[in-house]
Amino acid sequence: MSIGYADEYGIADRRRGALWIRVPVKPGAGAPLQGRVHALRQRQAMNYMLCQFCGRPTDDRPDGRHLFLLHAANGKPIADGERTATPPVCDGCALEVLGRPVVWRECAAALVEDATAWGVAGIVYAPETLRPVPSERGEPFTLVAYDDPRLPWTLACREVVALHGCTAVDLHDLAEHTTARALYPPCQRINTYRNEKGSL
Ligand SMILES: [Zn+2]
Repeated sequence: MSIGYADEYGIADRRRGALWIRVPVKPGAGAPLQGRVHALRQRQAMNYMLCQFCGRPTDDRPDGRHLFLLHAANGKPIADGERTATPPVCDGCALEVLGRPVVWRECAAALVEDATAWGVAGIVYAPETLRPVPSERGEPFTLVAYDDPRLPWTLACREVVALHGCTAVDLHDLAEHTTARALYPPCQRINTYRNEKGSL
């Protein structure tokens, strides 16, 4: 038993057992913003490690790590195993968002070796009543793991990954390194890396 659409259409509607919210697809229109995220773009960004802002791949680091810039109001660094629905960010967009004072106050950055599929953030329905179950602490969505028995009763709105192999990155260092990386085309970056002692 599970929730479903009367005209459910294969993997367009259901992934890994989770029914996905339907959203209009308008390639090139709009821009992802915190709190107003397009569900399909968010899922694609997570599945293919694309930048949450521009949609370009974030895997051009020689060590294969991805840069994550997450909301962390209390200044807590990103911890190993942390779950998030916020996709990674490319260097160009990282540089751009670091121009916003709010990011310095409320975000933490980490280079991440592995972002594994963990579950979804969505709306859980009660099997008996088919009414939405309120999420904890007034959050818009409930986090539901792929092996959670509530998954068949969840309308998925965001893909959630668990971050592993996290190395915290100081935002000042990030600003410095992304400036350097953004200034050099990819073919010149190899030499830049070799000359640097840092891990970026
Ligand atoms: Zn980008």
